[in-house]
Amino acid sequence: GTAQIGVTGLAVMGRNLARNFARHGYTVAVHNRTYARTQSLVTEHGDEGTFVPSESMADFVASLARPRKVVVMVQAGPATDAVIDELVPLLEPGDIVVDAGNAHFPDTVRREQALRAHGLHFVGTGVSGGEEGALNGPSIMPGGTAESYASLGPILEAISAKVDGVPCCTHVGPDGAGHFVKMVHNGIEYADMQLIAEAYDLLRQGLGASAPEIGEVFAAWNTGDLESYLIEVTAEVLAHTDAATGRPFVDVVADAAEQKGTGRWTVQNALDLGVPITGIAEATFARALSGSAPQRAAARGVLPADTLAWNVPEPGAFIEDVRLALYASKLVAYSQGFDQIAAASAQYGWDIDRAAMARIWRGGCIIRAKFLDRITQAYERNPELPLLIADPYFTAAVSNGVAAWRRVVAAAAAHGVPTPAFSSSLAYYDGVRAERLPANLIQAQRDFFGAHTYRRVDRDGVFHTDWSGDRTEQTW
Ligand code: NDP
Repeated sequence: GTAQIGVTGLAVMGRNLARNFARHGYTVAVHNRTYARTQSLVTEHGDEGTFVPSESMADFVASLARPRKVVVMVQAGPATDAVIDELVPLLEPGDIVVDAGNAHFPDTVRREQALRAHGLHFVGTGVSGGEEGALNGPSIMPGGTAESYASLGPILEAISAKVDGVPCCTHVGPDGAGHFVKMVHNGIEYADMQLIAEAYDLLRQGLGASAPEIGEVFAAWNTGDLESYLIEVTAEVLAHTDAATGRPFVDVVADAAEQKGTGRWTVQNALDLGVPITGIAEATFARALSGSAPQRAAARGVLPADTLAWNVPEPGAFIEDVRLALYASKLVAYSQGFDQIAAASAQYGWDIDRAAMARIWRGGCIIRAKFLDRITQAYERNPELPLLIADPYFTAAVSNGVAAWRRVVAAAAAHGVPTPAFSSSLAYYDGVRAERLPANLIQAQRDFFGAHTYRRVDRDGVFHTDWSGDRTEQTW
Protein backbone atom coordinates (compact mmCIF):
# COMPACT_ATOMS: atom_id res chain seq x y z
CA GLY A 1 0.00 0.00 0.00
CA THR A 2 0.93 3.64 -0.43
CA ALA A 3 -1.44 5.61 1.79
CA GLN A 4 0.45 7.45 4.56
CA ILE A 5 -2.43 7.43 7.00
CA GLY A 6 -5.84 5.79 7.20
CA VAL A 7 -9.08 6.83 8.84
CA THR A 8 -11.83 4.36 9.69
CA GLY A 9 -15.11 5.79 10.93
CA LEU A 10 -16.25 8.55 8.61
CA ALA A 11 -19.08 10.21 10.51
CA VAL A 12 -18.67 13.95 11.00
CA MET A 13 -15.41 13.79 13.01
CA GLY A 14 -13.60 11.13 11.00
CA ARG A 15 -14.67 12.66 7.72
CA ASN A 16 -13.29 16.05 8.69
CA LEU A 17 -10.04 14.59 10.04
CA ALA A 18 -9.58 12.65 6.78
CA ARG A 19 -10.16 15.85 4.79
CA ASN A 20 -7.70 17.70 7.01
CA PHE A 21 -5.00 15.04 6.36
CA ALA A 22 -5.73 15.17 2.62
CA ARG A 23 -5.61 18.96 2.52
CA HIS A 24 -2.15 18.75 4.07
CA GLY A 25 -0.94 16.61 1.19
CA TYR A 26 -1.14 13.18 2.78
CA THR A 27 -2.51 10.22 0.85
CA VAL A 28 -5.40 9.10 3.06
CA ALA A 29 -6.90 5.62 3.11
CA VAL A 30 -10.57 5.87 4.10
CA HIS A 31 -12.98 3.26 5.39
CA ASN A 32 -16.33 3.12 7.14
CA ARG A 33 -18.51 0.20 8.24
CA THR A 34 -21.26 1.47 5.96
CA TYR A 35 -19.59 2.01 2.58
CA ALA A 36 -22.00 4.76 1.50
CA ARG A 37 -20.27 7.18 3.88
CA THR A 38 -16.89 6.41 2.31
CA GLN A 39 -18.32 6.96 -1.15
CA SER A 40 -19.95 10.25 -0.24
CA LEU A 41 -16.69 11.54 1.25
CA VAL A 42 -14.84 10.82 -1.97
CA THR A 43 -17.67 12.14 -4.17
CA GLU A 44 -18.08 15.38 -2.23
CA HIS A 45 -14.49 16.10 -1.23
CA GLY A 46 -12.31 14.00 -3.53
CA ASP A 47 -10.91 17.18 -5.09
CA GLU A 48 -9.38 18.28 -1.77
CA GLY A 49 -6.56 15.73 -1.94
CA THR A 50 -5.77 12.07 -2.46
CA PHE A 51 -8.18 9.58 -0.90
CA VAL A 52 -7.89 5.81 -1.25
CA PRO A 53 -11.35 4.40 -0.48
CA SER A 54 -11.89 0.77 0.53
CA GLU A 55 -15.08 -1.13 1.13
CA SER A 56 -13.54 -3.87 3.28
CA MET A 57 -11.29 -3.50 6.30
CA ALA A 58 -8.81 -5.90 4.68
CA ASP A 59 -8.49 -3.75 1.56
CA PHE A 60 -8.24 -0.64 3.73
CA VAL A 61 -5.34 -2.12 5.71
CA ALA A 62 -3.68 -3.33 2.53
CA SER A 63 -3.83 0.18 1.05
CA LEU A 64 -1.58 1.57 3.81
CA ALA A 65 2.19 1.97 3.70
CA ARG A 66 4.07 0.29 6.56
CA PRO A 67 4.35 0.88 9.41
CA ARG A 68 0.61 1.41 9.00
CA LYS A 69 -1.07 4.29 10.79
CA VAL A 70 -4.79 3.77 11.29
CA VAL A 71 -6.93 6.42 12.94
CA VAL A 72 -10.09 4.95 14.45
CA MET A 73 -12.81 7.61 14.76
CA VAL A 74 -15.93 5.69 15.75
CA GLN A 75 -18.34 5.86 18.64
CA ALA A 76 -16.52 5.51 21.97
CA GLY A 77 -17.12 2.26 23.88
CA PRO A 78 -18.03 -1.13 22.36
CA ALA A 79 -17.85 0.19 18.77
CA THR A 80 -14.20 1.11 19.30
CA ASP A 81 -13.46 -2.38 20.66
CA ALA A 82 -15.30 -3.96 17.72
CA VAL A 83 -13.24 -2.00 15.20
CA ILE A 84 -9.97 -2.76 17.02
CA ASP A 85 -10.85 -6.49 17.07
CA GLU A 86 -11.42 -6.38 13.35
CA LEU A 87 -8.18 -4.48 12.69
CA VAL A 88 -5.71 -6.39 14.87
CA PRO A 89 -5.55 -9.67 12.87
CA LEU A 90 -4.93 -7.63 9.70
CA LEU A 91 -2.00 -5.62 11.11
CA GLU A 92 1.66 -6.48 11.57
CA PRO A 93 4.13 -5.69 14.36
CA GLY A 94 5.15 -2.04 14.42
CA ASP A 95 1.82 -0.79 13.01
CA ILE A 96 0.09 2.01 14.88
CA VAL A 97 -3.60 2.14 15.84
CA VAL A 98 -4.79 5.60 16.87
CA ASP A 99 -8.05 5.89 18.82
CA ALA A 100 -9.08 9.49 18.31
CA GLY A 101 -12.56 9.08 19.81
CA ASN A 102 -13.58 10.17 23.29
CA ALA A 103 -12.48 7.04 25.14
CA HIS A 104 -12.33 6.92 28.92
CA PHE A 105 -8.65 6.61 29.83
CA PRO A 106 -8.88 3.26 31.72
CA ASP A 107 -10.20 1.74 28.46
CA THR A 108 -7.19 3.19 26.67
CA VAL A 109 -4.82 1.68 29.24
CA ARG A 110 -6.51 -1.70 28.72
CA ARG A 111 -6.42 -1.49 24.90
CA GLU A 112 -2.80 -0.35 24.87
CA GLN A 113 -1.81 -3.40 26.92
CA ALA A 114 -3.75 -5.75 24.66
CA LEU A 115 -2.26 -4.36 21.45
CA ARG A 116 1.25 -4.25 22.87
CA ALA A 117 0.99 -8.03 23.28
CA HIS A 118 0.55 -8.20 19.49
CA GLY A 119 3.57 -5.96 18.88
CA LEU A 120 1.28 -3.10 17.87
CA HIS A 121 1.35 0.50 19.05
CA PHE A 122 -1.90 1.82 20.43
CA VAL A 123 -2.17 5.58 20.64
CA GLY A 124 -5.16 6.86 22.62
CA THR A 125 -5.50 10.43 21.41
CA GLY A 126 -7.56 13.29 22.74
CA VAL A 127 -8.94 15.49 19.97
CA SER A 128 -10.64 18.74 20.88
CA GLY A 129 -12.36 21.36 18.80
CA GLY A 130 -15.46 19.61 17.50
CA GLU A 131 -16.18 19.22 13.78
CA GLU A 132 -14.79 22.61 12.93
CA GLY A 133 -11.51 21.82 14.70
CA ALA A 134 -11.23 18.39 13.10
CA LEU A 135 -11.37 20.02 9.68
CA ASN A 136 -9.35 23.18 10.23
CA GLY A 137 -6.97 22.28 13.04
CA PRO A 138 -7.83 20.68 16.37
CA SER A 139 -5.83 20.48 19.57
CA ILE A 140 -4.44 16.93 19.59
CA MET A 141 -3.33 15.04 22.71
CA PRO A 142 -1.73 11.71 21.74
CA GLY A 143 -0.67 9.12 24.31
CA GLY A 144 1.20 5.87 23.64
CA THR A 145 4.87 5.12 23.17
CA ALA A 146 7.49 7.71 22.28
CA GLU A 147 8.49 5.35 19.45
CA SER A 148 5.05 5.60 17.86
CA TYR A 149 5.10 9.38 18.20
CA ALA A 150 8.36 9.58 16.24
CA SER A 151 6.57 8.54 13.04
CA LEU A 152 2.97 9.54 13.82
CA GLY A 153 3.68 12.85 15.58
CA PRO A 154 4.76 14.87 12.54
CA ILE A 155 1.53 13.97 10.69
CA LEU A 156 -0.66 14.90 13.66
CA GLU A 157 1.30 18.10 14.24
CA ALA A 158 0.81 19.03 10.58
CA ILE A 159 -2.99 18.90 10.83
CA SER A 160 -3.25 20.44 14.33
CA ALA A 161 -4.06 24.07 15.10
CA LYS A 162 -1.06 26.40 15.20
CA VAL A 163 -0.48 29.32 17.55
CA ASP A 164 2.50 31.55 16.72
CA GLY A 165 3.55 28.78 14.33
CA VAL A 166 3.68 26.22 17.17
CA PRO A 167 1.53 23.09 16.69
CA CYS A 168 -1.21 22.39 19.24
CA CYS A 169 -0.10 18.76 19.45
CA THR A 170 2.59 17.04 21.47
CA HIS A 171 3.31 13.59 22.87
CA VAL A 172 1.49 13.62 26.22
CA GLY A 173 2.79 10.39 27.78
CA PRO A 174 2.34 6.60 27.82
CA ASP A 175 -0.88 4.60 27.36
CA GLY A 176 -3.88 6.52 28.76
CA ALA A 177 -2.14 9.89 29.26
CA GLY A 178 -3.57 11.50 26.12
CA HIS A 179 -7.18 10.60 26.82
CA PHE A 180 -6.68 11.54 30.47
CA VAL A 181 -5.50 15.01 29.60
CA LYS A 182 -8.42 15.42 27.16
CA MET A 183 -10.76 14.42 29.99
CA VAL A 184 -9.32 17.08 32.31
CA HIS A 185 -9.51 19.58 29.45
CA ASN A 186 -13.23 18.87 29.27
CA GLY A 187 -13.55 19.16 33.05
CA ILE A 188 -11.89 22.57 32.94
CA GLU A 189 -14.28 23.46 30.12
CA TYR A 190 -17.21 22.61 32.40
CA ALA A 191 -15.80 24.88 35.13
CA ASP A 192 -15.11 27.72 32.73
CA MET A 193 -18.63 27.54 31.27
CA GLN A 194 -20.25 27.45 34.72
CA LEU A 195 -18.21 30.46 35.87
CA ILE A 196 -19.25 32.39 32.76
CA ALA A 197 -22.87 31.41 33.38
CA GLU A 198 -22.65 32.65 36.97
CA ALA A 199 -21.16 35.96 35.82
CA TYR A 200 -24.04 36.31 33.36
CA ASP A 201 -26.57 35.55 36.09
CA LEU A 202 -25.03 38.12 38.44
CA LEU A 203 -25.19 40.82 35.75
CA ARG A 204 -28.75 39.81 34.89
CA GLN A 205 -30.00 39.80 38.46
CA GLY A 206 -27.77 42.56 39.85
CA LEU A 207 -28.26 45.05 37.06
CA GLY A 208 -31.50 43.79 35.54
CA ALA A 209 -29.54 43.81 32.28
CA SER A 210 -30.88 42.17 29.11
CA ALA A 211 -29.07 39.37 27.32
CA PRO A 212 -27.79 41.62 24.51
CA GLU A 213 -26.58 44.18 27.06
CA ILE A 214 -24.67 41.44 28.89
CA GLY A 215 -23.37 40.26 25.53
CA GLU A 216 -21.75 43.67 25.09
CA VAL A 217 -20.07 43.32 28.48
CA PHE A 218 -18.65 39.93 27.45
CA ALA A 219 -17.50 41.33 24.11
CA ALA A 220 -15.60 44.04 26.00
CA TRP A 221 -14.14 41.47 28.42
CA ASN A 222 -12.89 39.51 25.43
CA THR A 223 -10.39 42.27 24.71
CA GLY A 224 -8.57 41.83 28.05
CA ASP A 225 -7.27 39.14 30.43
CA LEU A 226 -10.35 37.01 29.82
CA GLU A 227 -9.84 36.83 26.05
CA SER A 228 -10.85 33.32 25.06
CA TYR A 229 -13.00 31.28 22.73
CA LEU A 230 -15.63 30.63 25.42
CA ILE A 231 -16.02 34.35 26.25
CA GLU A 232 -16.28 35.12 22.54
CA VAL A 233 -18.93 32.42 22.06
CA THR A 234 -20.83 33.76 25.08
CA ALA A 235 -20.91 37.28 23.62
CA GLU A 236 -22.23 35.93 20.31
CA VAL A 237 -24.88 33.74 21.89
CA LEU A 238 -26.12 36.56 24.13
CA ALA A 239 -26.44 38.90 21.15
CA HIS A 240 -28.49 36.39 19.15
CA THR A 241 -32.24 36.94 18.69
CA ASP A 242 -34.71 34.05 18.47
CA ALA A 243 -36.29 34.16 15.02
CA ALA A 244 -39.61 32.65 16.16
CA THR A 245 -40.35 35.03 19.05
CA GLY A 246 -38.07 38.01 18.49
CA ARG A 247 -36.82 37.55 22.04
CA PRO A 248 -33.18 37.16 23.06
CA PHE A 249 -32.26 33.60 22.12
CA VAL A 250 -30.99 32.58 25.59
CA ASP A 251 -34.33 33.65 27.10
CA VAL A 252 -36.16 30.93 25.15
CA VAL A 253 -33.63 28.16 25.87
CA ALA A 254 -34.66 25.73 28.66
CA ASP A 255 -32.46 25.98 31.74
CA ALA A 256 -31.58 22.28 32.17
CA ALA A 257 -27.95 21.59 31.22
CA GLU A 258 -27.02 18.22 29.78
CA GLN A 259 -23.70 16.39 29.80
CA LYS A 260 -22.02 13.60 27.90
CA GLY A 261 -20.00 12.39 30.89
CA THR A 262 -16.46 13.72 30.69
CA GLY A 263 -17.06 16.13 33.58
CA ARG A 264 -18.31 13.23 35.66
CA TRP A 265 -15.25 11.13 34.76
CA THR A 266 -12.98 13.99 35.77
CA VAL A 267 -14.64 14.34 39.16
CA GLN A 268 -14.69 10.58 39.75
CA ASN A 269 -10.96 10.39 39.03
CA ALA A 270 -10.25 13.41 41.25
CA LEU A 271 -12.03 11.66 44.11
CA ASP A 272 -9.86 8.57 43.52
CA LEU A 273 -6.70 10.67 43.52
CA GLY A 274 -7.85 12.90 46.39
CA VAL A 275 -7.37 16.12 44.42
CA PRO A 276 -9.77 18.96 45.32
CA ILE A 277 -11.03 20.09 41.92
CA THR A 278 -13.89 22.01 43.48
CA GLY A 279 -14.49 24.21 40.43
CA ILE A 280 -14.99 21.28 38.06
CA ALA A 281 -17.03 19.37 40.65
CA GLU A 282 -19.33 22.32 41.35
CA ALA A 283 -19.78 22.86 37.62
CA THR A 284 -20.71 19.21 37.12
CA PHE A 285 -23.15 19.28 40.04
CA ALA A 286 -24.61 22.60 38.89
CA ARG A 287 -25.56 20.91 35.61
CA ALA A 288 -27.08 18.06 37.59
CA LEU A 289 -29.04 20.50 39.77
CA SER A 290 -30.35 22.36 36.74
CA GLY A 291 -31.70 19.05 35.44
CA SER A 292 -33.24 18.00 38.77
CA ALA A 293 -36.76 18.81 37.65
CA PRO A 294 -38.73 17.20 40.53
CA GLN A 295 -36.56 18.81 43.19
CA ARG A 296 -36.73 22.21 41.51
CA ALA A 297 -40.52 21.93 41.13
CA ALA A 298 -40.85 21.03 44.81
CA ALA A 299 -38.69 23.97 45.90
CA ARG A 300 -39.80 26.70 43.50
CA GLY A 301 -42.14 29.16 45.14
CA VAL A 302 -42.00 27.25 48.43
CA LEU A 303 -38.53 27.82 49.84
CA PRO A 304 -38.22 31.50 50.75
CA ALA A 305 -35.44 33.69 49.38
CA ASP A 306 -35.72 36.09 52.30
CA THR A 307 -33.68 38.71 50.48
CA LEU A 308 -34.05 42.40 49.79
CA ALA A 309 -34.34 43.82 46.30
CA TRP A 310 -30.92 44.24 44.68
CA ASN A 311 -30.01 47.78 43.78
CA VAL A 312 -26.49 48.11 42.46
CA PRO A 313 -25.53 51.77 42.94
CA GLU A 314 -22.60 51.81 40.52
CA PRO A 315 -23.13 49.43 37.61
CA GLY A 316 -19.67 50.07 36.14
CA ALA A 317 -17.92 49.18 39.39
CA PHE A 318 -20.09 46.10 39.81
CA ILE A 319 -19.31 44.88 36.29
CA GLU A 320 -15.61 45.30 37.02
CA ASP A 321 -16.01 43.37 40.32
CA VAL A 322 -17.70 40.50 38.48
CA ARG A 323 -14.94 40.49 35.86
CA LEU A 324 -12.25 40.27 38.54
CA ALA A 325 -14.16 37.57 40.43
CA LEU A 326 -14.60 35.61 37.21
CA TYR A 327 -10.90 35.80 36.40
CA ALA A 328 -9.83 34.81 39.92
CA SER A 329 -12.31 31.90 40.03
CA LYS A 330 -11.15 30.78 36.61
CA LEU A 331 -7.51 30.76 37.71
CA VAL A 332 -8.48 28.57 40.67
CA ALA A 333 -10.35 26.13 38.41
CA TYR A 334 -7.41 25.85 36.00
CA SER A 335 -4.95 25.57 38.90
CA GLN A 336 -6.98 22.65 40.26
CA GLY A 337 -7.15 20.95 36.87
CA PHE A 338 -3.38 21.15 36.49
CA ASP A 339 -3.01 19.73 40.02
CA GLN A 340 -5.09 16.76 38.90
CA ILE A 341 -2.83 16.23 35.89
CA ALA A 342 0.23 16.31 38.16
CA ALA A 343 -1.31 13.85 40.62
CA ALA A 344 -2.37 11.45 37.87
CA SER A 345 1.01 11.76 36.20
CA ALA A 346 2.72 10.73 39.45
CA GLN A 347 0.19 8.00 40.24
CA TYR A 348 0.18 6.36 36.81
CA GLY A 349 3.83 7.04 35.91
CA TRP A 350 3.09 9.31 32.95
CA ASP A 351 5.60 12.15 33.42
CA ILE A 352 3.28 14.73 31.83
CA ASP A 353 4.77 18.15 31.09
CA ARG A 354 2.15 20.65 32.24
CA ALA A 355 3.79 23.54 30.37
CA ALA A 356 3.31 21.57 27.15
CA MET A 357 -0.34 20.84 27.96
CA ALA A 358 -1.12 24.54 28.39
CA ARG A 359 0.78 25.19 25.14
CA ILE A 360 -1.28 22.73 23.06
CA TRP A 361 -4.53 24.11 24.50
CA ARG A 362 -3.81 27.63 23.20
CA GLY A 363 -5.45 26.80 19.87
CA GLY A 364 -7.97 24.44 18.31
CA CYS A 365 -9.75 23.42 21.49
CA ILE A 366 -12.76 24.77 23.38
CA ILE A 367 -10.78 26.26 26.28
CA ARG A 368 -8.33 28.03 23.98
CA ALA A 369 -7.38 31.31 25.55
CA LYS A 370 -4.69 33.89 25.63
CA PHE A 371 -3.83 33.32 29.28
CA LEU A 372 -2.75 29.70 28.64
CA ASP A 373 0.54 31.27 27.49
CA ARG A 374 0.95 32.52 31.04
CA ILE A 375 0.33 29.02 32.39
CA THR A 376 2.98 27.59 30.06
CA GLN A 377 5.43 30.24 31.26
CA ALA A 378 4.65 29.48 34.91
CA TYR A 379 5.38 25.76 34.49
CA GLU A 380 8.48 26.53 32.42
CA ARG A 381 9.76 28.74 35.24
CA ASN A 382 9.16 25.87 37.65
CA PRO A 383 8.18 22.45 36.25
CA GLU A 384 7.51 21.25 39.81
CA LEU A 385 5.33 24.25 40.70
CA PRO A 386 3.07 22.91 43.48
CA LEU A 387 0.26 25.42 42.94
CA LEU A 388 -0.40 27.43 39.80
CA ILE A 389 -1.87 30.41 41.66
CA ALA A 390 1.31 30.55 43.76
CA ASP A 391 3.35 31.37 40.65
CA PRO A 392 4.28 35.07 40.97
CA TYR A 393 2.39 36.15 37.86
CA PHE A 394 -0.82 34.41 38.92
CA THR A 395 -0.46 35.43 42.56
CA ALA A 396 -0.39 39.02 41.35
CA ALA A 397 -3.35 38.44 39.04
CA VAL A 398 -5.47 36.87 41.78
CA SER A 399 -4.41 39.35 44.48
CA ASN A 400 -5.61 42.16 42.28
CA GLY A 401 -9.13 40.75 42.42
CA VAL A 402 -9.53 39.29 45.91
CA ALA A 403 -11.48 42.22 47.39
CA ALA A 404 -13.81 42.29 44.37
CA TRP A 405 -14.23 38.50 44.57
CA ARG A 406 -15.32 38.75 48.21
CA ARG A 407 -17.78 41.56 47.42
CA VAL A 408 -19.31 39.57 44.56
CA VAL A 409 -19.66 36.31 46.51
CA ALA A 410 -21.09 38.20 49.52
CA ALA A 411 -23.57 40.05 47.30
CA ALA A 412 -24.59 36.80 45.61
CA ALA A 413 -25.25 35.21 49.01
CA ALA A 414 -27.09 38.27 50.29
CA HIS A 415 -29.36 38.37 47.24
CA GLY A 416 -29.93 34.66 46.80
CA VAL A 417 -28.11 34.23 43.49
CA PRO A 418 -26.54 30.76 43.32
CA THR A 419 -22.84 31.03 42.49
CA PRO A 420 -21.46 27.58 43.39
CA ALA A 421 -18.33 27.91 41.28
CA PHE A 422 -17.50 31.51 42.28
CA SER A 423 -18.14 30.71 45.96
CA SER A 424 -16.33 27.40 46.13
CA SER A 425 -13.34 28.81 44.28
CA LEU A 426 -13.08 31.59 46.84
CA ALA A 427 -13.42 29.02 49.64
CA TYR A 428 -10.64 26.98 48.02
CA TYR A 429 -8.49 30.10 47.80
CA ASP A 430 -9.01 30.87 51.48
CA GLY A 431 -8.51 27.22 52.38
CA VAL A 432 -5.29 26.71 50.48
CA ARG A 433 -3.75 29.94 51.81
CA ALA A 434 -4.86 29.42 55.44
CA GLU A 435 -2.20 29.41 58.16
CA ARG A 436 -4.24 26.83 60.02
CA LEU A 437 -7.33 24.90 58.96
CA PRO A 438 -9.89 23.36 61.30
CA ALA A 439 -8.70 19.92 60.26
CA ASN A 440 -7.16 19.72 63.74
CA LEU A 441 -10.69 19.31 65.10
CA ILE A 442 -11.52 16.67 62.49
CA GLN A 443 -8.46 14.68 63.56
CA ALA A 444 -9.44 14.99 67.23
CA GLN A 445 -12.98 13.79 66.45
CA ARG A 446 -11.63 10.86 64.42
CA ASP A 447 -9.37 9.87 67.28
CA PHE A 448 -12.27 10.14 69.75
CA PHE A 449 -14.71 7.81 67.99
CA GLY A 450 -12.41 5.61 65.94
CA ALA A 451 -8.96 5.70 67.58
CA HIS A 452 -7.69 6.94 64.22
CA THR A 453 -4.73 8.72 65.92
CA TYR A 454 -3.34 12.21 65.25
CA ARG A 455 -0.07 14.07 64.92
CA ARG A 456 0.94 17.00 67.12
CA VAL A 457 2.23 20.42 66.16
CA ASP A 458 4.97 20.34 68.81
CA ARG A 459 6.40 16.80 68.58
CA ASP A 460 7.00 14.13 65.95
CA GLY A 461 5.12 10.86 66.19
CA VAL A 462 1.63 9.43 66.04
CA PHE A 463 -0.60 9.73 69.10
CA HIS A 464 -3.87 8.47 70.54
CA THR A 465 -5.76 9.71 73.56
CA ASP A 466 -7.60 7.12 75.64
CA TRP A 467 -10.95 8.93 75.31
CA SER A 468 -13.10 6.24 76.94
CA GLY A 469 -10.66 5.70 79.81
CA ASP A 470 -8.52 8.12 81.73
CA ARG A 471 -7.77 10.35 78.71
CA THR A 472 -4.05 9.96 78.91
CA GLU A 473 -2.12 10.25 75.66
CA GLN A 474 -0.28 7.29 74.24
CA THR A 475 2.38 7.19 71.58
CA TRP A 476 1.04 4.94 68.83
P1 NDP B 1 -20.31 8.92 16.14
O1 NDP B 1 -19.83 8.95 17.53
O2 NDP B 1 -21.69 9.34 15.85
O3 NDP B 1 -20.05 7.47 15.53
C1 NDP B 1 -20.47 7.13 14.25
C2 NDP B 1 -19.38 6.36 13.55
O4 NDP B 1 -19.09 5.17 14.29
C3 NDP B 1 -19.82 5.93 12.18
O5 NDP B 1 -18.71 5.96 11.33
C4 NDP B 1 -20.28 4.51 12.44
O6 NDP B 1 -20.28 3.71 11.29
C5 NDP B 1 -19.25 4.05 13.41
N1 NDP B 1 -19.63 2.88 14.18
C6 NDP B 1 -20.53 2.82 15.18
N2 NDP B 1 -20.61 1.57 15.66
C7 NDP B 1 -19.74 0.82 14.94
C8 NDP B 1 -19.38 -0.53 14.98
N3 NDP B 1 -19.90 -1.38 15.86
N4 NDP B 1 -18.45 -0.96 14.09
C9 NDP B 1 -17.89 -0.11 13.21
N5 NDP B 1 -18.22 1.19 13.15
C10 NDP B 1 -19.12 1.65 14.00
O7 NDP B 1 -19.31 9.77 15.20
P2 NDP B 1 -18.68 11.22 15.45
O8 NDP B 1 -17.96 11.54 14.20
O9 NDP B 1 -19.67 12.18 15.98
O10 NDP B 1 -17.62 10.96 16.61
C11 NDP B 1 -16.56 10.05 16.46
C12 NDP B 1 -15.77 10.01 17.77
O11 NDP B 1 -15.29 11.30 18.02
C13 NDP B 1 -16.57 9.60 18.99
O12 NDP B 1 -15.74 8.84 19.84
C14 NDP B 1 -16.91 10.89 19.65
O13 NDP B 1 -17.05 10.79 21.05
C15 NDP B 1 -15.73 11.73 19.29
N6 NDP B 1 -16.15 13.14 19.15
C16 NDP B 1 -15.28 14.07 19.46
C17 NDP B 1 -15.60 15.37 19.34
C18 NDP B 1 -14.61 16.33 19.66
O14 NDP B 1 -14.83 17.51 19.70
N7 NDP B 1 -13.41 15.85 19.93
C19 NDP B 1 -16.88 15.87 18.89
C20 NDP B 1 -17.71 14.82 18.52
C21 NDP B 1 -17.34 13.51 18.67
P3 NDP B 1 -21.62 3.61 10.36
O15 NDP B 1 -21.54 4.78 9.44
O16 NDP B 1 -21.45 2.32 9.67
O17 NDP B 1 -22.80 3.65 11.27
